[in-house]
Amino acid sequence: MEPQAGPGQIALSVRACGVCRTDLHLRDAEIDAPRLPVVLGHQIVGVGDDGRRLGVPWLGWTCGECAFCRSGRENLCLRARFTGRDIDGGFAQRTVADERYCFELPAGLSDEQAAPLLCGGLIGYRALRFAGDAQRLGLYGFGSAAHMICQVAVHQGREVFAFVRPGDERAAAFARSLGASWAGASTEQPPELLDAAIIFAADGELIPRALSALGRGGTVVCAGIHMSTIPPLDYDALWQERSIRSVANLTRSDAEEFLALAPQVPVRTTVTTYPLEQAELALADLRSGRFEGSAVIVP
Ligand SMILES: [Zn+2]
Ligand SMILES: [Zn+2]
Repeated sequence: MEPQAGPGQIALSVRACGVCRTDLHLRDAEIDAPRLPVVLGHQIVGVGDDGRRLGVPWLGWTCGECAFCRSGRENLCLRARFTGRDIDGGFAQRTVADERYCFELPAGLSDEQAAPLLCGGLIGYRALRFAGDAQRLGLYGFGSAAHMICQVAVHQGREVFAFVRPGDERAAAFARSLGASWAGASTEQPPELLDAAIIFAADGELIPRALSALGRGGTVVCAGIHMSTIPPLDYDALWQERSIRSVANLTRSDAEEFLALAPQVPVRTTVTTYPLEQAELALADLRSGRFEGSAVIVP
């Protein structure tokens, strides 16, 4: 059935929709989907009936009233609704979105190239902000988000150290091609201590590893929505003002800031496209790390 736009909403023809690890976690019931069945997909590039091209991100609706909404932290809204979890998403030909949470996209990027900016890019950028002014930055898990954030970090004059699955030479070479000054296995120590590390992978074992790669005062930023259990930690690993923090969702101002910055870098996305009928294959390939960069569904 064709989704119908209610008040304040816009109906969109989906041109492209990025595939995110969160889609996989929802698919595998590692995170709860309160409303089932639901159409997955929260990195939607769509065109309205008026011809406007808009991007629809994960943050689909906020209440505007809770303490978080009123203090510039709508990403933490107590009643937030998320695209592809609480609201039907973009693994579809048509979708409907609240216009207040849609964004104009950089003109120089095709629909497929723009789609990954809408989650990996936006939430990755929020994570990068929490890395502060770290000069030596580690990126653990070199998938969709990291391949964009590496480019932004290099553009900002930072030195990037990319950590990939042990033995994944192809991912290490991909990271170097995007400006990482060092790339190695996530089990390795980097050649220098890091000022901050962002973990994009869902593996809790990476937290103690990333902490051991940090210098004094360094921060580990966990950018994912789900992680496997974190192993026990000696306090020594945190001592000297090291910290661990998570990043949840995005605010609309994160989106505005990142979508303005992306064309200046310029962020170039590496995408593998799949037709809508092969959405399951795209998720399976993401699970097994079969492609570099981002997967995008093109209905
Ligand atoms: Zn996502
Ligand atoms: Zn709220």
